[in-house]
Amino acid sequence: MRYLIVSDLHANWEALEAVLGWAKNRYEQIVCCGDLVGYGPDPNRVVEWCRKNLHAVIRGNHDRACCGLEDLEWFNPIAREASEWTMRALTEQNLHWLRTLPAGPLVVDGFLIAHGSPLDEDEYLTTLTDAANTFEYLESSLTFFGHTHLQGGFAWENGKRRKLFRPFDDQCETGVHVDPDGLYLVNPGSVGQPRDGDARAAFALFDSSTRDVELRRVPYDFDSVRRKIESAGLPVALGNRLEHGR
Ligand code: ZN
Repeated sequence: MRYLIVSDLHANWEALEAVLGWAKNRYEQIVCCGDLVGYGPDPNRVVEWCRKNLHAVIRGNHDRACCGLEDLEWFNPIAREASEWTMRALTEQNLHWLRTLPAGPLVVDGFLIAHGSPLDEDEYLTTLTDAANTFEYLESSLTFFGHTHLQGGFAWENGKRRKLFRPFDDQCETGVHVDPDGLYLVNPGSVGQPRDGDARAAFALFDSSTRDVELRRVPYDFDSVRRKIESAGLPVALGNRLEHGR
């Protein structure tokens, strides 16, 4: 089975559309590691697409916040303002659907999906040390996770740990072969708000028959998203950061 793996869409329809356009005919199922909404200007459009098209999905911390399951006092002022805007913008049906999303980790056809760490949905897996503390508890050789908005990840093969790198600059793709005896924590990156210095939308493709993962980037029109953010009355910083991928 060929999977399109996405995470951290953050109500950015233009970025999602660019990913789907590029990936057309290259997958059979779509899987999402959470944070469908929050920050971006198109929460209803993105949630409605998710409701129709995702094979498996778990909630992220912004999904919890935007549907009233989380206390917003943990959020910085910009994230809080965006969450309150999103809560007002979402239809009752979409709010209800978000509230029913399961917490990760979730087993999907032999691999796991998690939002933060498989041990804690709110934990950021950012460094090799964070990953090292997680590897010994993994129940599957392959886990996809999100939350950090940093594409890449971590592998443990033949007793050695290593970082998995995202495609750099003009490169569009990095490949990872999943050894069944190894352990892999793979972050497809953020579709809707990348924070690794590359403005292009990030995602992954996984072929379960060859056990190959591709980390990919695709450009999208972040300028029209910035304009939508401004005219929606969302904090302008949320539009400006898209251009820099920070
Ligand atoms: Zn996120």
